[in-house]
Amino acid sequence: MISREGRTRIMKGVRSKDTSLEHIVRRELFALGYRYRLHGEGLPGRPDIVFPGLRKVIFVHGCFWHQHVGCVRRKTPRTNTEYWLPKLKRNKQRDKQAVAALQRMGWRVAVIWECEIKDSKRQVCAQLARFLKSEQ
Ligand SMILES: [Zn+2]
Repeated sequence: MISREGRTRIMKGVRSKDTSLEHIVRRELFALGYRYRLHGEGLPGRPDIVFPGLRKVIFVHGCFWHQHVGCVRRKTPRTNTEYWLPKLKRNKQRDKQAVAALQRMGWRVAVIWECEIKDSKRQVCAQLARFLKSEQ
């Protein structure tokens, strides 16, 4: 269960979009020599990090807000479920549609999760470096 303060914190984190997790990833990618744009305006789902030249995008997803399947951080709220459940379900649907739409437009899409960054930043960055280098 998420406290009222916790919920406010989550909402704020989501609204600002410029989360610390995203910062961590961006800093690493920058150090690897990658240059990117932020918050692809006009692209489905407004991907967090956009590589126009490579035609690749990265979403940095919070486990709660985007309902990371099988993840302990997903923590579906036990109170006010009639409010949260449809909302979270919609988020998940929107994510799926955004990825499908981007792929139809010829973009390659990578999704990384909050818990993966927290568990192993190095592994996530290696994974992203592979994604950015790959030709397909
Ligand atoms: Zn997760």
